[in-house]
Amino acid sequence: MAASPTAPVSQVYTWEPSNPVLAARYGLRPEDILRFDLNTSPLPSPDLATMLAGPFDPPLNEYPDSMYPAVVEAAAAYVGVDPSEVLVGAGADEVLDVIAKTFLPAGGRAVVPIPTYSMYGVLSTQRDATLDTVLRRGAADGFDIDLGRLVPRLDGAHVVWLCAPNNPTGAPESLEVVTQVLEEAAKLGRRGPVVVVDEAYAEFSPETSIPLIDRYPGLIVVRTVSKAFALAGVRVGYAVAQRPTIERLERLRPPGSISTMSAMVAGAALRDPDQARRNARQLSGERDWLAARLAVMGFPAYPSITNFLLVSFGTVEAAEDVTDALLHAGIVTRTFGPANPLRGHLRFTVRTRDQDERLLDVLGTWQAGRQA
Ligand code: PMP
Repeated sequence: MAASPTAPVSQVYTWEPSNPVLAARYGLRPEDILRFDLNTSPLPSPDLATMLAGPFDPPLNEYPDSMYPAVVEAAAAYVGVDPSEVLVGAGADEVLDVIAKTFLPAGGRAVVPIPTYSMYGVLSTQRDATLDTVLRRGAADGFDIDLGRLVPRLDGAHVVWLCAPNNPTGAPESLEVVTQVLEEAAKLGRRGPVVVVDEAYAEFSPETSIPLIDRYPGLIVVRTVSKAFALAGVRVGYAVAQRPTIERLERLRPPGSISTMSAMVAGAALRDPDQARRNARQLSGERDWLAARLAVMGFPAYPSITNFLLVSFGTVEAAEDVTDALLHAGIVTRTFGPANPLRGHLRFTVRTRDQDERLLDVLGTWQAGRQA
C-alpha cells in the first residue's frame, strides 16, 4: 500500500498498481517489472504440490472450517503458546484490521511512533479514530521509540501500534523499549491502551515479544507467513495474545476469509519453520551484500536486520528523479509522500543476486547521468 503523493499520509491511500498496469505505463512487458517495493521473498515458495497433497478437509464444495484448526495448531506450536492464544486471519493486515475493529472505537485514539508501517494510519482513520503520531528518534539513534514523548500519550489511548522490527526503517524495536511501553500501559489500568507489536519480520530478528504475553494481558503480537515463509499470496497471518483478548478478537473476525487451500498451505509451512529460517538467513546475507554495494556507490543504507533497506537520496528532487529512472527500467521501489518524515528516501526490498544487480546497474547509470 502506498500513500498518495498529494495528500496527507493518514487520509488518502492508493493500492499499489499491478505489474500489467505499471508495464503499460512505462512501455514495458509485465514480466520486465521487478517489485522492490513489497518486502516479499524473491525465493520460491515451499513446494506446494507436497503441501496440498491429500484430500481437502473439508472438500472444496463446502466452506472452510472457520476455526482453521490446522493453522491455529501449527502457529501455536511454532511460537510456543496454547492454541487458545492464537487468532488467524487473511494476512497480518486482516488481523490488524480485526484488532482495530475490536479495540479502537470511533472517536478513540491510536498512538503510533513514526515513521512506521503506513497501514496503522489507514486502519485508525478508517475507524474514525484520531491518529496520534509520535516522532521516533533520528537515524543516528536507530529510529528508536522516543519514550519521553510516547509515554505521556498513553493515558486514555485505545491502541499503540508498534512494529518489531520496524518497517520501513529495518531497525529492531528493542525488547527493552517494548517492555517499557507495556509497563507504562499496564500501570494505567483501564485507562491504558492495548499494545500491538507487529512482528511481520520476526524471522529476521533475534528478539520477539511473544514470551511477554503471559505477563501483559494488553499485549497482542501479530505475525504472518508473507515474508520469511515466502507465502504472501496465500494470505495468512495470526495474532498471539492471552486467551480473553483472543476471545474478544474472535467476535469480530470474519468466519471464512481464508480458503481451505490457504489454510492447508499455511499449516504445512508453519509446521516446517526451518524453511523460513533458512530463507531469512539467505536474504540477510544478500541484504548485507546489497548494503555494502550501495555504500560503495555512495548510497549508504541505514542498518537493517530485515529483508529491506532504507536509503536517503538527500533531497526530494533526487529521490523523485531516481524513482522515475528506476520505474522506466521496470524497477518499482517504495517511495514516501509529502507528509512522511522519510520523504527523500527510498526503500528497497532485498531480492535475488541477479535482480539486485539490475537495481545497482540502473542506480549506477542514473548516478553517472546526474554527474555528467
Ligand atoms: N505488517 C508489516 C509491518 C508489513 O510490512 C506487512 C506487509 N507489507 C504487513 C503487516 C502485512 O502482511 P500480510 O501480507 O500478512 O497482510
